[in-house]
Amino acid sequence: MTTDDLAFDQRHIWHPYTSMTSPLPVYPVERAEGCELILSNGERLVDGMSSWWAAIHGYNHPQLNAAMKMQIDSMSHVMFGGITHAPAINLCRKLVAMTPERLECVFLADSGSVAVEVAMKMALQYWRALGESRQRFLTFRNGYHGDTFGAMSVCDPDNSMHSLWKGYLPDNLFAPAPQSRMDGEWDERDMVAFARLMAAHRKEIAAVILEPIVQGAGGMRMYHPEWLRRIRKMCDREGILLIADEIATGFGRTGKLFACEHADITPDILCLGKALTGGTMTLSATITTRNIAETISNGEAGCFMHGPTFMGNPLACAVATASLSLLETGEWQHQVATIETQLRAELTPAAQSPWVADVRVLGAIGVVETTHPVNMAALQRFFVEQGVWVRPFGKLIYLMPPYLIQPEQLRKLTQAVNDAVTQETFFIH
Ligand SMILES: *Cc1c(COP(=O)(O)O)cnc(C)c1O
Repeated sequence: MTTDDLAFDQRHIWHPYTSMTSPLPVYPVERAEGCELILSNGERLVDGMSSWWAAIHGYNHPQLNAAMKMQIDSMSHVMFGGITHAPAINLCRKLVAMTPERLECVFLADSGSVAVEVAMKMALQYWRALGESRQRFLTFRNGYHGDTFGAMSVCDPDNSMHSLWKGYLPDNLFAPAPQSRMDGEWDERDMVAFARLMAAHRKEIAAVILEPIVQGAGGMRMYHPEWLRRIRKMCDREGILLIADEIATGFGRTGKLFACEHADITPDILCLGKALTGGTMTLSATITTRNIAETISNGEAGCFMHGPTFMGNPLACAVATASLSLLETGEWQHQVATIETQLRAELTPAAQSPWVADVRVLGAIGVVETTHPVNMAALQRFFVEQGVWVRPFGKLIYLMPPYLIQPEQLRKLTQAVNDAVTQETFFIH
């Protein structure tokens, strides 16, 4: 890659959440293989991010590549209106089989945010069909559900700058973020504000939407499973729907196939994405109960009002099916448990640093929360110099490597994090 290419990138291409006038540096990646990203200058970086929860089987996986190559020779895409195909049927068979029994109707869409839009729209159409006007969602602060407007309306109001969209975003209900930690005791008082909000608005709430157990991009917080059991009960009592956004937590990341299993609950609507295709292509699924699907279908619209152009994309479905087959071997369970043990052992010492506020680990997720925001550019450069790819944000330095990472590769990642958090220069203070 030439400096001219990089100059073009800087001048003309947006990157996620960056400025067009003073963008942070970007690193040119030429290849990715196994658990490594290979830069255009030949440097190899151990991947600690799985490309934002997605690449659970690492990069350039032979079975995933084979599935895509095979599919591309028959058809990469065909419309889903009035047409069906084996890749979608095969994938949905697997999804219905691997998710809780009550979840059986699958809507395929193109990204996580759209899966959330679909889930919210389903909830609205459900209540409309029942003749009730319920148009609000109850959720936690510190949540993250995507960047489209419906999804954004249930994201943490401060993190997603609701102030910027005042008058445009629907007015949803935000309970304080859970305080009872996954690795701590359940505190009964934690529920009070949530229960009050629900009671005060019980006839307006269409659904509760949450990220089970791990709040991802909104703060990498891990909360007690009792929360899910209580919310499930409260929703049942009021008839309020429960939407579980497992776009980040799904497919083994937290040590269970789905994070809801930590509490043994079934949501009414489940959103999946990110790792669904093993990080190769964009695809999402929103899965619901037959009762919700039928109620919507019997309403005034007579159908569910959504249908993306690339719905059920065969190429994405084929590779997703291959990714789920890899998970079906069950190997991930051992891999994630091994990563968890190593993350606990090797990240816990980071807590000694005066710059570290908290260390938490669950499954193949390790989080070091710092006392001050990190200097992104400097810290990113440091990590690249250490031969690792770690992308911190705010006060969070976190690792979520591909499941097949080797212990010495993971050690390189944890070592780099431990080294970083002792250095004052990486913190803005
Ligand atoms: C990433 C994410 C989304 C949005 O998915 P996109 O594919 O980026 O649109 C939604 N919910 C959660 C929990 C996520 O982590």
